[in-house]
Amino acid sequence: MSRTNQQIRLAARPTGEPRPTDWDLVAEPVPEPEEGELLVEVLYLSIDPAMRGWMNAAKSYITPVEIGEVMRAAGIGRVAASRHPGFAVGDHVTGVFGVQEYCLSRGHGVTIIDPDLAPLPTYLGALGISGMTAYFGLLEIGKPQPGQTVVVSAAAGAVGSMAGQIAKIHGCRVIGIAGGADKCRTLVDQLGFDAAIDHHTQGIRTSLRELAPHGVDVYFDNVGGETLDAVLTRLALGARIVVCGAISQYNATQAVKGPSNYLSLLTSRASMTGMVVFDYADRYPEALEALTTWRSAGTLRTLEDVATGGVPAFPDTLLKLFRGENLGKLVLQIAEA
Ligand code: NAP
Repeated sequence: MSRTNQQIRLAARPTGEPRPTDWDLVAEPVPEPEEGELLVEVLYLSIDPAMRGWMNAAKSYITPVEIGEVMRAAGIGRVAASRHPGFAVGDHVTGVFGVQEYCLSRGHGVTIIDPDLAPLPTYLGALGISGMTAYFGLLEIGKPQPGQTVVVSAAAGAVGSMAGQIAKIHGCRVIGIAGGADKCRTLVDQLGFDAAIDHHTQGIRTSLRELAPHGVDVYFDNVGGETLDAVLTRLALGARIVVCGAISQYNATQAVKGPSNYLSLLTSRASMTGMVVFDYADRYPEALEALTTWRSAGTLRTLEDVATGGVPAFPDTLLKLFRGENLGKLVLQIAEA
């Protein structure tokens, strides 16, 4: 009996939050690799806020997913068959495999990983794009100095939890903004943040007045919108804002809300700089070495939130990001590792 390959394909471009009708769940026969190709059995998929942007027609830093195409997703897999000289059956690999159970690849952008070095989902989070984003965003754009105050939003998420811990490793005082008492407790008790603000119950502006009396030197922004506007009112002289993301705006049906308090950049002689992790691709080995060393030394804790249900669970799993239902890196398990 031939095996099937379940896939999620983009059916329609959403308005606002993606709906079930924006996706098609289909099944195809599992392809056979030809000379120079390998077949990857997908084990875990990275679930990313950026996926919402890839569903739009507008070109961003990466081309949109076309209607009818398999939804783009980075993942971890195991080589199931190979006619490629660089890969052997059983190798664990990472690459952009899409929301499907099997991916046929010519090996471009596919990297072999060591499953004994870290749990597989960690390669999608702390040792993957989330970790790279936090590392380069914080250190290259934020330029934190020991003793300075760093604020991170979506701090209990994949990128935020890494950015805050890297700032601690560099001797900063770190304040996280997160949704809910449990997330805030995790930041302080498990990840070593100095303080956390629960944006569901506490005012960011008033909390920062108390927690950062000398102002915020670095703001690592994952959220945008009103959160950014609130932090803008508390900048220290010469502050750096890292524009990493703006998840509060990704499902907006009206024009994106810009920061009305932007003139504080002028009075604080501050800067606000966008960053795209792919610009640092040639330096990933440097970040990987640092992150692996900190992880082994126990100074960097990694958090993964593993959703189950395989390919059919993808549409609901994606929504967890926008509902604040993940703690740490959200991944979807596709098959038994
Ligand atoms: P994540 O933080 O693990 O998950 C998203 C979190 O955002 C949610 O758990 C929720 O946390 C928070 N959130 C969702 N909707 C919100 C809203 N309306 N207002 C305030 N908070 C909201 O996701 P991630 O993968 O680490 O990504 C974080 C950010 O980094 C995203 O903006 C993403 O686009 C960006 N990113 C940028 C790059 C780059 O190269 N620039 C690369 C990767 C990721 P709470 O429950 O705590 O509110």
